[in-house]
Amino acid sequence: MFKMMMCKEATRLMSKRLDAPLSFQEKLSLKLHLAMCDACTECNKQFALLHEVGPRFEMLVSEIPDEGGSSRQE
Ligand SMILES: [Zn+2]
Repeated sequence: MFKMMMCKEATRLMSKRLDAPLSFQEKLSLKLHLAMCDACTECNKQFALLHEVGPRFEMLVSEIPDEGGSSRQE
């Protein structure tokens, strides 16, 4: 029987995945764990969001002109 992965290990893989692709074995273990663990499923959503929005979000922020409501021309 497949040994159940620990939440700590699952989180480590999720964070590692942001930097480098996981091996097939790692992906499989993570997927299995997520199928059984609600807490890590939530955590994984946050990581996925971070991963997808991260670079784009930084771009958006840098593109916002400096008129935050308080600045006035005159
Ligand atoms: Zn877990």
